[in-house]
Formats: sequence, C-alpha cells, structure tokens
Amino acid sequence: MDTLAGVRVVVVGMSRSGVAAASLAVAMGAEVIGVDLRASLPAVPGVRLELGPHRRETLLGADLIVVSPGVPASQPDLVAAAAYGVPVVGELVFAASFIDAPLIAITGTNGKSTTTSFVGQLLAACGHRPFVGGNLGDALSLMPVDHADADFVVAEVSSYQLELDAGVCAPLMAPDLPGLRPRAAAILNLTPDHLARHGTMERYAEAKAKLFRRLSGVGIVPAHGGPGGALIQAALRDHIGPMRYIGGHGVRVEGARAFVDVPEASFELDLSELAVPGAHNLENAAVAAALAASAGVPVAALQAAIPKLVALDHRMQIVARARDVLWINDSKATNVDAARVGIAGIDRMAFVLLGGQAKGPGFGALGPSLARHVAVVFGEAGPQIAVELRAVGVETIRVTTLEDAVSVAASAVRPGQAVLLSPACASFDAFTDFEHRGRVFTALARAAAGEVT
Ligand code: ADP
Repeated sequence: MDTLAGVRVVVVGMSRSGVAAASLAVAMGAEVIGVDLRASLPAVPGVRLELGPHRRETLLGADLIVVSPGVPASQPDLVAAAAYGVPVVGELVFAASFIDAPLIAITGTNGKSTTTSFVGQLLAACGHRPFVGGNLGDALSLMPVDHADADFVVAEVSSYQLELDAGVCAPLMAPDLPGLRPRAAAILNLTPDHLARHGTMERYAEAKAKLFRRLSGVGIVPAHGGPGGALIQAALRDHIGPMRYIGGHGVRVEGARAFVDVPEASFELDLSELAVPGAHNLENAAVAAALAASAGVPVAALQAAIPKLVALDHRMQIVARARDVLWINDSKATNVDAARVGIAGIDRMAFVLLGGQAKGPGFGALGPSLARHVAVVFGEAGPQIAVELRAVGVETIRVTTLEDAVSVAASAVRPGQAVLLSPACASFDAFTDFEHRGRVFTALARAAAGEVT
C-alpha cells in the first residue's frame, strides 16, 4: 500500500467523502493535507488539517489535489492550481484508481440510488459480495481499505463527481492513477436539475458522458426519444464500444415484462412480482438486471431475485398502511421530473403532497400526471406551485406546512386511496435534507394511520 509514497496529496473539502479520500491517501503512503473553509473539524489520523480560507501555496505545492464532490470545479483556487499544472481529480475518480474489482457505475438525473441498490441486491442474491456506494451510502474511497474483500463494486455516480475526471483538469495525472474504469455503466436519464452548477443541459450531458470514458463493456443510455436521450447520445458521439438503449433495443419494458439484450445475454424477465411500487421502478429493475447480466449473473438467478428487491428509504416507500389507505414517502423526488414519474406510476387515486424549496419554474409539467389526483401544496414553494398548476387547469389545496398537508389529507382520504409525499422541491426551506423531511412525513403518516411509531 505504498502507491503514493512520497506524494503530497491535498484534499479539498473535508466532509464525508473528503475524509474518506484523505484516509485512503494516507493508507497509500501519501503525505496528506486536508483543507476546509470551516474553522474547526475533528482530527483525521495521519492528516494535517488546514482550516479557514484556502492558502494558495498549499494547493500549488501539491503533487495531486483531490476534491470532494461538494466543492465546485470552478473554485478559483482549484482553477489556479490546475493552470499551474497540479493534477486535480474528484474523490470518486481518485478512489476508483485503487479499485481492481469489476465496477458497475450508474448515473442519471433520477433513479440512480434505486438502480444502484437493485444491482447490489441482484449480485448479492446470487452469492457475490458487492460493495455498494459512491454518491449513495459509503464514499467509494472507503472501499479499497475497509471493504477490500468485495468481489464487485457498484457505484452510484453524480455529475458533480464526474466534473473532475482525469485528463480534463488533470493533464499531468500520474499514469498509475488510472481513474474510473467501469466494466458496465448506465446513464439512466437526463432532465433539468442542478443547472445552477452545470450551466446548460449540454454541459450537464457532457459531465454525465464522462462516465463512459474508460468503459470496457456495455454502456446503457436512454433511447433517442427517451428523457435526455438525444442530448446524451450527442455527448457520446465519439464513444466506441457496445451501447444499449433504455426504451429501445437493449432494455425495453412492456407491461410487466422486460426484454433485455446485452452483449453477454439476451433474455426476458417477468417483473410482475416486483414489490416496489411505481412504473418507473419496472424500468429501474430492468436496467439493473441488464447490468447484472453483463457482469455474469445467470438469468435464472435474476428472475428469482426480482420479487425480493426492496426499495431504499424515501423512494416510493410505503411507510403506513391502514384501512386500505397507503401512505407513500417519495421525499427523494426533489425535482419536477422525479415527482412526475412517481405520481404517474401510482395506480390508485392519491392526495399528492407537493412543496418545499422550488428549484425553478416548471411545476406545470405535473399537470397531466395530477389529473386523477388531489394536489395539496405546502412550504415556501406552495403559492408558486398553486399558481403554476392553476395555469394548466389543476386546482390545489393550499396549506402552510407539511404537517398541515398531512392532516388535510388524513381527513379526506378514503379506503382504496393513497397519500403520497412527492414534493418536486428541495427540502431546505424547513428541513435539513430530504431524509429529514421523509422521516417527519413517516412519523406524521404513521400517527395519522393509527400506527405506533
Ligand atoms: P437519485 O439517486 O438519482 O436521486 P433515486 O433512486 O433516489 O434517484 O430516486 C429519486 C426519485 O426519482 C424517486 O423518488 C422517484 O420519484 C424518481 N425516480 C426513480 N427512478 C426514476 C426513473 N427511472 N426515472 C425518473 N424518475 C425516477
């Protein structure tokens, strides 16, 4: 473990992923400095912390800079260091350089965590020991040291984590840091989100397309007419290697049947026993099966594992069920498209709770999917959502807080119906994050349903 012996590594941003990257660099024998704008942080063994405003000489004196996903690549000190010739890489790309196990990588605007978790569950169901992490759960930097016995790595990758890839900001990157080399990869979809950071949809597509740069096997993307398909395919126009298409040749879902064709296998799957609600999850399961099949999981094992797949918390998660009323927590639907897909995928009439902190206009796009439902709007964005939905002919019930929204729904909902938290907004107006919002909803839902929490 001395790959980085004598190398001065500076890690920028000492949050969860940064701390993991710094510890990995220490384990690889590097001399490590962790810099962070915050004034005080807990010590990290083997790492010298430099807190407060960045010192440019620290960055310029590095042999390699590793950047946490929360720190934008456009940060002036990073730009200056890269211009000076210091290799700058993202945490995930850095970590992946030390991973030899076969890696399956998943990105997209929506569905990443669910699909990543499904792939992990499918691999585990047939006896593998996968490490599942990246943007979801454990940082990838934890894998090479703490989970070295894993025989597969399934990585959820965000566009932020792809911004700083070797060869872009790191022209001088040492050849023994080979970067992210997936065996199979998928870009699930691309719809407007995170544009404040990426600028345009084209730049967003290009960030996602970097996932395929060192891909050795199949790459799965939306068909041309699918969400973001045209943009993604344009960004990948120079990609050489097998490609398959969601909603086209490669991964097609019709009713509850999936038709999968990857270079390693061609098969049909029965998804009728998938227990995770939402039509979009049929597609997520089909993509996961395609990726697992490309990693060698036998079709019979895949079919047997489908009914056992479970959802992650806060994603179309049934949190209470009483008197034939379903209470569903989709707090992770933090943008309009995620909410639209979740709402459209529910097969009973629902009270849909929408609101939080708006990421921009565009709530009108929810109009068609809300036609069969009742929309209750809450939070900072409540009035904006009400106005934009009224403009497309959808009336809403306006309340102030999530708690009010739950109590309105609880008094009106009837057996055979559902209450769905599908906010279409960020949570930061009233909660720490989407998980916090989901936990609050879960507690309120269970109380309203008469369950003991
Ligand atoms: P991510 O990790 O990309 O944010 P998740 O799997 O956590 O994705 O799901 C986030 C939300 O996106 C879910 O709550 C659901 O409403 C929606 N979603 C899930 N899968 C898809 C998909 N394939 N297409 C569009 N929206 C989806």
